[in-house]
Amino acid sequence: MTVVTTLPDRRLLLVHAHPDDESIGTGSTMAHYAADGAHVTLVTCTLGEEGEIHRPELAQLAAAEADQLGGFRIGELAAACAALGVTDHRFLGGAGRYRDSGMMGLATNEHPRAFWAADLDVAAGQLLDVIREVRPQVMVTYDPNGFYGHPDHIQAHRVTMRAHELAAAEGIAPAKVYWTALPRSVLEAGMSHFTESSDNPFAGIDSVDELPFGTPDDQIAARIDATDQHAAKEAAMRAHGTQIPANSWLYAIAGNFGAEFMGVEFFTLAVGEPGPAGGPNGWESDLFAGIDTTSSGSSAGRPDPAAGQPVAAARRPEQASPVGGGPASAMAGPR
Ligand SMILES: [Zn+2]
Repeated sequence: MTVVTTLPDRRLLLVHAHPDDESIGTGSTMAHYAADGAHVTLVTCTLGEEGEIHRPELAQLAAAEADQLGGFRIGELAAACAALGVTDHRFLGGAGRYRDSGMMGLATNEHPRAFWAADLDVAAGQLLDVIREVRPQVMVTYDPNGFYGHPDHIQAHRVTMRAHELAAAEGIAPAKVYWTALPRSVLEAGMSHFTESSDNPFAGIDSVDELPFGTPDDQIAARIDATDQHAAKEAAMRAHGTQIPANSWLYAIAGNFGAEFMGVEFFTLAVGEPGPAGGPNGWESDLFAGIDTTSSGSSAGRPDPAAGQPVAAARRPEQASPVGGGPASAMAGPR
């Protein structure tokens, strides 16, 4: 069959664990590419049902009470995506297919729908469906430790990497896969900045080595400078009001460090060849660097290796619904 799609030439697919992870971890990058005319697809793997609730008037949404936090967070995610200019957002397998597993070792890990317990090939197959449809050249997810060790983040990593393998077997593998990262130099600067602060998010930590994240600078591949999108990222974070208190130190840091804290995001390259350096330290300044986006993927008229799989942007209605926020990840570290 012949594939015809109206999607833009550059297509970026991000896979996140909970609503709010997209905004905290990659919000500026998403806003940057959306504003620049690329197609940005967000896949969120759970509804974030186990998140803490920082709005007291909504406390009865909690898992131990009405257990409706996930549904509420669908609306938060929709608002966040609107702030980022992202229109293509879906839940893996549909909203509610996978449940927030909670922190490692909790009984919630064993819930029948816990994402942590998902069958890897089934979940990867669901992501593969999105890859077939959108044909992204670039995918973004977490490193093997899920950036900071949350089971759903680790599982999002595993599912994404497995889906890439499955896509490769069909000849439609995205050219690059990036993992979110925070350079040690940035963390060290943040720690020293807060040493004298009474509201120190690093209190009790003596060294970057004690944090569950922090990547040596020479392992960073890309630095996306989207400082002009810092307001969009902050607005998206504020949309996740159940998860990120309005007086969060995240906003305090943003105030102290300015647009760079919100607007600059970093990645390591897990799959693919690095493109030409466009920024400091030999880092790429564009996730699409080195990729010929005029010929790859679902541009008009290419034969479809997965015959019978419609590639055009026929989004399923249930997947086009708004996406919500994520659990405690926001509180786990300086991003
Ligand atoms: Zn998360």
